[in-house]
Amino acid sequence: MGQKFMEPAVWNDAVTITANMHEVLDQADKRRRVVILGGGFGGFRLAAGLSPRLFNVTIVSPRDHFLFTPLLASTVVGTTEFRSIIEPLSSARKGVTVYVATATSIELDRQIVHCMGSFDKDKFELGYDTLVIGVGAAAEMERVPGVAKEALALKELSDARQIRRNVMKCVERAALPGVDSETRQRLLHFVVVGGGPTGVECAGELYDFVHEDLIPRFSHLGPFFKITLLEAATEILSSFDRSLADYTRKSFAKRGIEVRTGAFVSAVTNEQLTLRNGELIPFGVLVWSTGITPTDFVKALPVERTSNGRISVDRYLRVKNAPNVFAIGDCASVEGSTYPATAQAAQQQGAYLAKALTKAVRGKDVAAFRYLHLGMLASIGGGRALADVPGIKWRGFSAWLVWRSVYLTKLVSLRNKFRVFFDWIRTSLFGRDVTTF
Ligand SMILES: Cc1cc2nc3c(=O)[nH]c(=O)nc-3n(C[C@H](O)[C@H](O)[C@H](O)COP(=O)(O)OP(=O)(O)OC[C@H]3O[C@@H](n4cnc5c(N)ncnc54)[C@H](O)[C@@H]3O)c2cc1C
Repeated sequence: MGQKFMEPAVWNDAVTITANMHEVLDQADKRRRVVILGGGFGGFRLAAGLSPRLFNVTIVSPRDHFLFTPLLASTVVGTTEFRSIIEPLSSARKGVTVYVATATSIELDRQIVHCMGSFDKDKFELGYDTLVIGVGAAAEMERVPGVAKEALALKELSDARQIRRNVMKCVERAALPGVDSETRQRLLHFVVVGGGPTGVECAGELYDFVHEDLIPRFSHLGPFFKITLLEAATEILSSFDRSLADYTRKSFAKRGIEVRTGAFVSAVTNEQLTLRNGELIPFGVLVWSTGITPTDFVKALPVERTSNGRISVDRYLRVKNAPNVFAIGDCASVEGSTYPATAQAAQQQGAYLAKALTKAVRGKDVAAFRYLHLGMLASIGGGRALADVPGIKWRGFSAWLVWRSVYLTKLVSLRNKFRVFFDWIRTSLFGRDVTTF
């Protein structure tokens, strides 16, 4: 392996958490201190895999929950409820300490992370023997003028809630008497930019919401609703098999979702966007889902990064020239590979690192990380989905049943599996909620 997998622990001489009982107790604790930055797919899976007998595990994360993003688009319209897809970080494993805070910087030579509490901005430091950076990535909102201010990302639960609020706000405004047709048309035009799986799922969910729940209640607004999906490249769903992308286009066309490829948005103002060809498109709600970019924290780290700004790690997920520091998930890039920025890659890295750290502590050899591609699934609305699994290209209603079954089993807790299952039954029996709160 060249360099050692990890250096010996310095035990607790670097602990500088505010003077309290924790510190006193830590002095007697000879377990290796693992600090995990981020409680997403990578960090949560890693924490779940580390035995409290061997490791003293702390998660630092600005949100106190793990978010199951594959069902995030369906919370926008209420097919699934917000609370059904989050898990408290402390449930990762008994004994895990969680600090709801943001890591602001790292001192590699002193093995210390500087953090800031999420609520009162209290600053504190954490010493570590092993540091794992799993802070994910941010939604890319800066490249086109006006996007950061006027468009809504779909990355966090708060984003889904905001999109829902804005959709309902537009519907309620459009429903008022005396609103002219042009304004109604604009308010009820929901535009999604980005033809990847997230953008496609969001457009599909919005369509179902409009046709199954809004039009029956606001029938006079029916002719004004419109959903458009804009993609700058020549095709949507470029990571999926061509046949599945074509099927999606046909299915969207049949249902009246307008898909426009080669449509590069060059500017956005509060009521309309401009395409590169000069065309103006008025909208009521604009969802921006064009990809990810490194977080400001990652950009400022004193470590080697790849050309796309991700932290460069070797095949053991070690950050180069940073002893005892590892990086996983969307914020990291493994040398000599092009793993996608997906939950399955992040989760596999978290699981690998839990095993690798355990082996290293026990003095056993550690093998390099290997990614196993299990395939991709995406729901396209209307009770249809896509399944692009090695050797199988599947679509339609049966793929939708597979999509639902797979994600039901992948949800972490039994409680949330039940919640989501009953959310789906509730939606099919009684429809989605159309109130604003
Ligand atoms: C709407 C949507 C749908 C998706 N659907 C799928 C899908 O179906 N299949 C799939 O494989 N992938 C999917 N993805 C991608 C998947 O969610 C990501 O690839 C995955 O979450 C990456 O995991 P991660 O652990 O690297 O980061 P994340 O899961 O993003 O977690 C990052 C964590 O770091 C925390 N954090 C951020 N900054 C700091 C800091 N400075 N200090 C401490 N903590 C910090 C965050 O709060 C968060 O807890 C989807 C993504 C989205 C947005």
